[in-house]
Amino acid sequence: MDKYRVRFAPSPTGELHVGNARTALFNWMFARHHGGTFVLRIEDTDESRSALSYQVNLLNDLSWLGLDWDEGPEIDSSYSQLNSTGYRGGEEEATQSYDTIRRGADDAANKDSRMKATGYYGPYKQSERLNIYNEHLQKLVAANLVYPCYCTEAELDEERQALILSKRMPRYMGKCRNFTEAQRKGKEAAGLKPSFRFKVPDETIEFTDLIRGAMRFEGAAIGDFIIVRSNGMPAYNFAVVIDDHLMGITHVIRGEDHLSNTALQIMLYKAFGFAPPTFAHHSLILGKDRAKLSKRHGSVSVGEFRKQGILPEALLNYLGLLGSSFTDGREVLTREEMITGFALERASKSGAIFDEEKLHWLNAIYIRNRPTEDLVKQLNPFLEQAGYKIGEIDYAWFNQVIDLVKNDLTTLAEIGSHIDIFFDGRYAITVGAKQILEKESAVQVVKVFAEYLKTAAGNPQEIYLAAIKYIKEKTGAKGKDLFMPIRAALTGCVHGPELDKVFAILGKDAALKRVKSFTG
Ligand code: GLU
Repeated sequence: MDKYRVRFAPSPTGELHVGNARTALFNWMFARHHGGTFVLRIEDTDESRSALSYQVNLLNDLSWLGLDWDEGPEIDSSYSQLNSTGYRGGEEEATQSYDTIRRGADDAANKDSRMKATGYYGPYKQSERLNIYNEHLQKLVAANLVYPCYCTEAELDEERQALILSKRMPRYMGKCRNFTEAQRKGKEAAGLKPSFRFKVPDETIEFTDLIRGAMRFEGAAIGDFIIVRSNGMPAYNFAVVIDDHLMGITHVIRGEDHLSNTALQIMLYKAFGFAPPTFAHHSLILGKDRAKLSKRHGSVSVGEFRKQGILPEALLNYLGLLGSSFTDGREVLTREEMITGFALERASKSGAIFDEEKLHWLNAIYIRNRPTEDLVKQLNPFLEQAGYKIGEIDYAWFNQVIDLVKNDLTTLAEIGSHIDIFFDGRYAITVGAKQILEKESAVQVVKVFAEYLKTAAGNPQEIYLAAIKYIKEKTGAKGKDLFMPIRAALTGCVHGPELDKVFAILGKDAALKRVKSFTG
């Protein structure tokens, strides 16, 4: 077995939160750094909260980020079609592909042959592993390490309230632990379906966390916990131990909010006689107020950032920087550099504050450095959103526009406001530009500019330079008084990209048409 097998085990109960994406990234970097295996497991046993659409989005978001998994629900070849078509964000479309995939994944014959060929550890969705959990429950029942509990929600709540009132720690006090067989039969006869609780031993649980060091929990403070619910579904702590063991997971890397679960999980490892993996609990992402990052802080899901036009590389890079540091303190890193420089030991113990401005700063760098032709492809959905008809764009010309404006973009979603000046149908005079063009001296500059353009011919760059020289000579205008009127007339705005480049992209005729409209 591989020396390094890690897993990301999301529950498909909502959109992929950046905190979870960061957990996935840490696991992925760890696996890639050590040449190990990155497993994706879907923890979908909470039927009331799990949804297929969330699963689909989860897989799509991970693929979009480039966090490729070696084993997981997509293992069937049909799944790779989803990845190769790329994520377009259409839920319906994605759901369809996923259904096709599921049919492949459910094909038992496929699984068998794969298992023989590659050492298959699936299925990778917990809802497809229920028989495995049941077998394991029977082992604990046979060893008398668990017991059926018939307490109702109301009874449990009453117990909890009483403990809180008497200032004791709320936990299950073991009411059903020592029921006689007759008492159990009585409950069953009354139609009660039991959950199963683990008999928590009165002992100290100790383990060494790779990030947090020595950890210690007292069994005496922990109540007997549910491992299988009354509806037959396994509880998280139970399923996760069985899966991590059977899937050969060597390192469990997850958020510190799972630290107390780890104590329970170690008890179950012992009960089964399994060797526990190594644990590493990283800090959580916090908002500026140091509370756990949540919706009230703003955007928190990978999907939201994708829709805003954050590039996957920028988000990945940013999440990698959060709460971990790379050897040489550099901040703009390629995936390969992140993999090489990653060390769990360097992950910070304290929470990392999510700074959207820094994410935007990184995004701007990635946009600027992206080859224009690739960027244009990524921009298409955002252009459509801004009301542009993709089919009508002359891309040979449009690439020049993007080449010029990409230096000023922070997100892809801003594209419309940066390119409108190049399209006659969208070009409009702002209040600021109008004010400039009301001055007599400005009208003069624009008039002379128009006059020059009427007869000019040749290369637009040369025409522009010569026109400027001509206007200077004729009007005596210079600096702002020269360039602002030209900018205002040409672009309708008071700020924007370099004028000579704007002129060259517009071309002489289009420029003249705009300028002429101000000459009365
Ligand atoms: N399904 C759990 C979660 O999403 C997994 C936690 C773990 O990594 O063990 O929080």
